[in-house]
Amino acid sequence: MVPRYLIDFNIRDMNTKRTDVCIIGSGIAGLYTALQIAKYQEVTLICKEGLSESNTNYAQGGIAAVITKKDSTALHRQDTLIAGAGLCSHEAVDVLVNEGPEGVYELIRYGTQFDKEGDKLALTQEGAHSRRRILHARGDSTGAEIVRALSERARENERIHILEHHFAIDLVTEKDQCVGVIVEDSHGEQFLIQSNATILATGGAGQLYRYTTNPPVATGDGIAMAYRAGAQIKDVEFIQFHPTSLCYPGAPRFLISEAVRGEGAVLRNVNGERFMERYHPQLELAPRDVVARAIVSEIEKTESTFVYLDITHESEELIKHRFPKIYQVCLTYGLNMVTDWIPVAPAAHYMMGGVKTGLWGETTVPRLFACGEVSCTGVHGANRLASNSLSEAIVFGKRIAQRVKELQPIELDVSGLSFSIMRETTPDEHILEKKLKLQKMMVRQVGLKRDEKRLRKALKEMERQVKQFQLQPTHPSEYEFLNLLTCGLLTVKAALLREESRGGHYREDFPKRDDVIWRKHIIQSIGEGVLEERGTYDD
Ligand SMILES: Cc1cc2nc3c(=O)[nH]c(=O)nc-3n(C[C@H](O)[C@H](O)[C@H](O)COP(=O)(O)OP(=O)(O)OC[C@H]3O[C@@H](n4cnc5c(N)ncnc54)[C@H](O)[C@@H]3O)c2cc1C
Repeated sequence: MVPRYLIDFNIRDMNTKRTDVCIIGSGIAGLYTALQIAKYQEVTLICKEGLSESNTNYAQGGIAAVITKKDSTALHRQDTLIAGAGLCSHEAVDVLVNEGPEGVYELIRYGTQFDKEGDKLALTQEGAHSRRRILHARGDSTGAEIVRALSERARENERIHILEHHFAIDLVTEKDQCVGVIVEDSHGEQFLIQSNATILATGGAGQLYRYTTNPPVATGDGIAMAYRAGAQIKDVEFIQFHPTSLCYPGAPRFLISEAVRGEGAVLRNVNGERFMERYHPQLELAPRDVVARAIVSEIEKTESTFVYLDITHESEELIKHRFPKIYQVCLTYGLNMVTDWIPVAPAAHYMMGGVKTGLWGETTVPRLFACGEVSCTGVHGANRLASNSLSEAIVFGKRIAQRVKELQPIELDVSGLSFSIMRETTPDEHILEKKLKLQKMMVRQVGLKRDEKRLRKALKEMERQVKQFQLQPTHPSEYEFLNLLTCGLLTVKAALLREESRGGHYREDFPKRDDVIWRKHIIQSIGEGVLEERGTYDD
């Protein structure tokens, strides 16, 4: 069983720091929300690596928002709902499409330099968008540019106290409210950050899978922490596998942005045949899950390990100007996009589910908020529309700031808090090996194509690992493994339960979407086990 806390502790033995608001995470969600809250309160922002190491920093394609008259929020809404495959919250999508444009202008006010054509913002199109509405920066380095601008603003803001290389281990609750977080610094010292409000902005869990576009920080810590603290976790069976990550000996699974297909690249199997017309009328710009499964089918059919992405018919100038980063990375591995087809395969990319929130970012634990990829606001449903995640983070970050402003200060004595399940203190030397085994199992048994037999096998193996929770972890790599294991357990349980195929969840034994039984959400919590939640859907 997953225990309430990862470590045994006694608050009396720890230093305590007080702050108005504690934000865990320095991606777009953490930085943007910190800047919004710092307009009126003190913020402590912690991150487990340097300030700029996050998924956000690697975001390539861009950020979706309706900013031209040729487009409309109704169309953005419709595209988002279609991608979400019947499980989006309509209210959350309305919030996203209506408040996204203002969020983007705020990013510009914070100094983000999006690409321009003449004096107008340049826009591109991505899969399943019916209009060109994606803003981008430095070609394909949108996330890095946003992080640059927001980090600079955060570092110069006197109300924001930044703690880099600090690992958040557990959320502390007292009288059913979140009162802060136990943190470990880079010297191994643990202390409590006590706050009026705590905001999880810890990103996703891409590292659950052996093949992922996500950097090493994406270990699902926020979801696992929130679960242990009693928050409801929603729809974690929906994992988006990006269709096109670089698949070349010696190269990392570097993302080849969907914008490359948006600019005209086509997919070919290893025999050189273009194949998407056999799978979807939108061809290469079909929803990501469709493209990813089509690629896997072609890989299986041709007994290969990859397919090709071909943009060689485009001009050298366009390729180098639009995709400078991707062009350079491919070149490092001897692949020239101008003349060569690029070998690609799907990889884990984005988690649609997460910590359940309301329209103001509140989780089901009072004083605990979640923002960005760690959260499940209802915007993405069963499948995220490309470039909607960066917009989601700023839109709901701003809303969280408004809600936090209205919170009354909390006065609770937590000095007597302690927790113990008498763990053995022997450190586990094989933690990296165990992590790799979990990641490989997730690819094989809980990957792009699932069925009951494989899911049960995965569950059994994970349940064997649960005894790891009885050891007192002593190093961030051990906390991360236990958090990944928790996310793995939540994902496999939800995937077993959902006997249908929809969006980022595909069951070979139930290949059809089943709206009658399954147009509902799977909610898991440490206290109540598994619940099912029906929304009101009118599409
Ligand atoms: C390669 C790639 C390309 C993408 N391209 C796009 C795109 O073009 N458009 C788009 O909309 N989306 C894109 N996405 C998705 C998008 O980047 C992410 O969903 C988004 O950046 C998540 O932001 P976030 O702030 O929620 O989390 P992140 O940016 O992942 O930040 C998480 C932060 O939490 C910190 N953290 C985590 N755990 C702990 C802990 N235990 N203690 C302390 N700190 C912790 C990390 O150190 C980090 O600072 C892409 C993702 C990837 C991987």
